Amino acid sequence: MEYRALYEYGVNRLSESGTGEAALDARLLLEEVCGTSRSDLLAHGDEPVKEEHRRRYLEWIEKRAGRIPLQHILGYQEFMGLRFRVNGDVLIPRQDTETLVEEVLRKLHDGMRILDLCTGSGCILLSLLRYSNHCQGTGSDLSEKALEVARGNARSLGLEAEFVHSDLFERITGKFEIIVSNPPYIPGGEISGLMEEVRDHDPRMALDGGEDGLSFYKKIISQAKGWLCPGGELFFEIGSDQGEAVSSLMKQARYRQVKVSQDLAGLDRVVCGVYGGENSV
Ligand code: GLN
Repeated sequence: MEYRALYEYGVNRLSESGTGEAALDARLLLEEVCGTSRSDLLAHGDEPVKEEHRRRYLEWIEKRAGRIPLQHILGYQEFMGLRFRVNGDVLIPRQDTETLVEEVLRKLHDGMRILDLCTGSGCILLSLLRYSNHCQGTGSDLSEKALEVARGNARSLGLEAEFVHSDLFERITGKFEIIVSNPPYIPGGEISGLMEEVRDHDPRMALDGGEDGLSFYKKIISQAKGWLCPGGELFFEIGSDQGEAVSSLMKQARYRQVKVSQDLAGLDRVVCGVYGGENSV
């Protein structure tokens, strides 16, 4: 079978199964299987595809038609221009989360200590370390399996970070200039209504933010003061309807300069605030 014909088969199979971005996913899977790039579809569409590649492609198309996330089939997701290995033990890094990383980078200086709670694949912490100098990074997660993925990502990106198996701050020692987290924030009752790929394949513990979706914010906001340096800053990713709730929790807990920022779609996505240190700087 020729390259283009195989691609067209993939698009049709994914469209008929109701998979969202059928054409894009069919092309990305084909390129991964054959080691080709976007231009091959135009330039070499009539070339035959090796039997072994054809077989693997059809297998992958069936998986995707069964709503296995594209990233679980490929085994990776790009985030902040870096490649992160992912599997069912971690939340697939989302483009929205780049907004959080970018907000932190505006405040990050050389040599700062960063703590990333609920680190998952490590995408936030490792991106911050990659785009700064001499910062020290600690990531914590309740899932040992997620930490294995994060450690593997640190190794493959050539970055040094400490990953600690911990329920939020439980086993964390030391002080930090920056604490960042993209915690689970979906209200428990809304999880069953999510897209199949998310509901059935992202770890539930990476999604479930308790009854009101705010349980991690409440815990982190109240505990973080024991780990932030005076003048240190706390950054959260939030759901687009949580800006007011999370910023008022931070204000009530006497964080200063509490600010909500928007993602590329213009939706509220990040809340940050400074802890103490009014007289120190
Ligand atoms: N920190 C990870 C991410 O942003 C995982 C977040 C989570 O599990 N809720 O991708």
